[in-house]
Amino acid sequence: MNIAVIGTGYVGLVTGTCFAETGNHVTCVDIDENKVNRLQNGEIPIYEPGLDTLFDRNTRQGRLTFTTNLAEGIKGAEIIFLALPTPPGEDGSADLSYVLGVAGDLSKIITEYTVIVDKSTVPVGTAEKVHALLAENLSESLFDVVSNPEFLREGVAVEDFMKPDRVVIGTESARAREVMGRLYEPFVRQGNPIYYMDERSAEMTKYAANSYLATRISFMNEIANLCERVGANVDMVRLGMGSDTRIGKRFLFPGVGYGGSCFPKDVQALAKTATEYGYDFNILNAVMGVNTKQKQILSQKIIAHFGGSLNGKTIAIWGLAFKPNTDDIREAPALTIIEELLEAGADIKAFDPEAMDNVKAVFGSRIQFVEEQYEALIGADALAVITEWPVFRSPSYKVLKELLSQPVIFDGRNIYDPKTMAAEGFYYDSIGRNTVQ
Ligand code: NAD
Repeated sequence: MNIAVIGTGYVGLVTGTCFAETGNHVTCVDIDENKVNRLQNGEIPIYEPGLDTLFDRNTRQGRLTFTTNLAEGIKGAEIIFLALPTPPGEDGSADLSYVLGVAGDLSKIITEYTVIVDKSTVPVGTAEKVHALLAENLSESLFDVVSNPEFLREGVAVEDFMKPDRVVIGTESARAREVMGRLYEPFVRQGNPIYYMDERSAEMTKYAANSYLATRISFMNEIANLCERVGANVDMVRLGMGSDTRIGKRFLFPGVGYGGSCFPKDVQALAKTATEYGYDFNILNAVMGVNTKQKQILSQKIIAHFGGSLNGKTIAIWGLAFKPNTDDIREAPALTIIEELLEAGADIKAFDPEAMDNVKAVFGSRIQFVEEQYEALIGADALAVITEWPVFRSPSYKVLKELLSQPVIFDGRNIYDPKTMAAEGFYYDSIGRNTVQ
C-alpha cells in the first residue's frame, strides 16, 4: 500500500518505518526542514532502540522516504496518517491546531479516495471535526476519517508497534475498516485483537488507558509515601498486592512522579473534556495533584538532609530522561528536581546516557554535564538517581564511596537494595522504604 505519515516525531517516524517494514511504501512529511534533511541523509533525530535497523533497511530499499512538501508526500497515498503534536493548550485542553490545520490543507489537495487517520491523541469529537473540515472542499465519496490511537511506549516503541497488544480502529465506514484491517493484518498474526468501534469510543479509549496508568502511578506513590510514615516497605507491598491477578504486577513501581509527553497532557485533557461536559472527574484531579507533589519529593528529601540549604553543596544526578531508553525529557521529573535543587543553592553535575543534549537546551550552563556516569560523583556531596537506566543498576559501590565526598544516595526509583546499602555504609534514602543511615 502507499501510505503518507504527516508529522515525523516519535510516533510518526516509528509508524512510518514499521509500515515500510511490512512492505508498504511510506512517505513521511514534516514541516521541520532540519529534521527532514537529517532523515534524508540517513540520520535518525531521536533515540529509540531498534529503530535504526528498520530505518536503514527500508530507506535503503526505497520504501521509506521523507519530504517537507505535503502535496508531494500524499501523492498516490491510500492512507494518510496524522501523527501531529497535540500539546496542552493554555486551559489544559489538547491544542488541535496542528491536526485541524493539516486537515484543512488536505481538503484542498486530495483528488482520489483516501483514508485519513488520526494517529495523534485527540479529544472525543475530533474525528468529526476533521471530517467536517475535509467536507468543506471534498466530496464525501473521496474520503473517510478513522481514529486509530497509538499505544506504543517510547523506549520499546518498535517492539510495541510491530506486536501491539491490540489495535483500535474507530470508524463507521465499512470501506475504511477493510483498508485499515488489511494494513494491520501483519501486525496481529499472533492473534492479538483488532477492535473496531466508533470514532468517539476509539478516541476515549486512548485517554482512558493513559489516565488509568497515570492513576496507578499516583496511587502507588501515595501508598509509598504512607509506607514511609508507617514503617512499611513498599517493595514488599507491591509484590504482595501485584500477585493478585485482578491487579497484576506491572506499573506498580513508585517513584518521583510520571512525566513524558503523554501522561501529563492526556490526564489534563481528559479532565478538561469532563469539565466541558459538566462532569467533575474527581479522581483525575487528585492524580494530577499527587503527581505535582511527587515530583518534589526527592528534592525535598535532599534539601532536608542538608539542613534546609544546599549552598556550597554539589549534587550528582544520574538520569535526566523521563524514563529509561529514551532521550525524551518532556515533562521529565528531573527538570523539576534540578530546578528546585538549584533554587536551594546546589551545584549540579548531571549524567544521562541519551538525554543530555536535550537538557542542555533547557539549563545551558546553569548545570554541569559530564560524559561518563562516575565523573558526576567527583567531589559531590550526594548522588540522586532520577531515571532507572539499566547502566545505573549495578555500580561499583567502592568507586562510589571513593568519589563522593560523603557516602549519600537519594534514589528516586528504588533501584538499590537497602540491605546492601546498609552493609556498604551508605546513607540511603529511597521512595516508600525506611531510610538507611
Ligand atoms: P513529536 O512532537 O515528537 O512529533 C510531531 C512532529 O510533527 C514534529 O516532528 C513536528 O515538526 C511535526 N509537525 C508539526 N506541524 C506539522 C505540520 N503542519 N506538518 C507536518 N509536520 C508537522 O510528537 P509525538 O511524540 O510523535 O506525538 C504525536 C502524537 O502522538 C501526539 O498527539 C501524542 O500525544 C501522540 N502519542 C505519542 C506517544 C509517544 O510516546 N510519544 C505515544 C502515543 C501517542
